[in-house]
Amino acid sequence: MNKITIDDLAILGGKSLFSEFKSTSNLLKPDIEKFLTYSKVFYKQRQYTNNGPNVKLLEKRLAKFHHTEYCVTFSSGFWALALAAKVLSLQGKTEIIMPSLTYRRMTDMSAWLGLKPNFCEVDKHTLAMTPKTVAACINSNTALILGVHPIVNCCESDALVELAKSHGIPILFDSVESVYESTAEGKIGKFGDAECFSLHACKLFNGFGGGYLTTNHGDLATKLASMRTFGFVSRDSVEVPDGLNAKLNEMHACMALASLDDIELQVAANKARYITYKETLESVKGIRLLEFDQRFDSGFKNIVAEVQSDWPFTRDETVEILNAEKILARPHYAPPLHQKEMHYDFVPAHLPLTERLAKQYINLPCGQQVSSDDIVEIVNFLSFISKYASLLKEMMNKKVEI
Ligand SMILES: *Cc1c(COP(=O)(O)O)cnc(C)c1O
Repeated sequence: MNKITIDDLAILGGKSLFSEFKSTSNLLKPDIEKFLTYSKVFYKQRQYTNNGPNVKLLEKRLAKFHHTEYCVTFSSGFWALALAAKVLSLQGKTEIIMPSLTYRRMTDMSAWLGLKPNFCEVDKHTLAMTPKTVAACINSNTALILGVHPIVNCCESDALVELAKSHGIPILFDSVESVYESTAEGKIGKFGDAECFSLHACKLFNGFGGGYLTTNHGDLATKLASMRTFGFVSRDSVEVPDGLNAKLNEMHACMALASLDDIELQVAANKARYITYKETLESVKGIRLLEFDQRFDSGFKNIVAEVQSDWPFTRDETVEILNAEKILARPHYAPPLHQKEMHYDFVPAHLPLTERLAKQYINLPCGQQVSSDDIVEIVNFLSFISKYASLLKEMMNKKVEI
């Protein structure tokens, strides 16, 4: 590590620990030859989009991967979610239940749907919504439950589905962050009415961009396949309302297929990174790693840690100090959606636990560009700033005064 005294810290004008940013994006780089081999098929046929050969193959393989009957691909995870929610939401109802401690664009989706978010609390240990917190939000206006998995481990899919069923409310899962995971009841993908995933480059499966949905309901799959293609049901016939252009094109499907081919290798590399974090962070007092539940399948992609009360800096100070070193750590889902500045209407929410948790967790660099050596450097750096905490805090305050 290039730090000997506190003056070496980048936040105080020293040289940054890394010369290139270490981020929280996965940026999977599958074998380019595999990508090209898939690409030659569509190129030769000149079928670049509109349900081409690779899109069909990808849907087949993803359905198999998730142990579901159907898979429908989309141009993004967002459109998979938004279109599925449009079809599933109960007519005439006005609210969609979702956590506030989650992906920041979720409210854009409810705004597009014309539904008001009714934000539920999460569990303080798992950071996930639970049947109990969701039940507290169910009322006569509920149109849909959006079950969102946290970024480490899964929410209680089965129990949430049972709750939804008992109230006659549809449930759609945002399983973007649990794409590789399974639970005691089986592989993620088959729960509820449908589950949605992303193929964005920062996620576990990289299709440059894109998304997909898995389901065991044939009617839903057929309807969504039509909606993503303007609502066409046959060559010249548009019959399904609310259609738009949200198809996945062939090039994206080829990249996603190549990613899928390499996934076991990549997950093994993620696991090695996770274990390095786990072993090295044990010696850093005040930073607690959120652990993956190793009884089940896990993609080991995200590294999330709690900044505890005996850590000398606040979470935001920690992020600021790390970012200066080109360690692109991020506040974990902060601000929560109900505290975010936005123009959308939502059901007034009282979520003290979410508000507290949104200040306590940090996402640390992960993914295919972060090596074990980088992780050791990052953790050594955390030990270093902890050792010089009081002096550093004094200097940082002085900097603010100037
Ligand atoms: C990234 C993400 C999405 C959106 O996926 P896109 O393919 O980028 O539209 C949705 N939900 C969660 C939880 C995400 O992390």
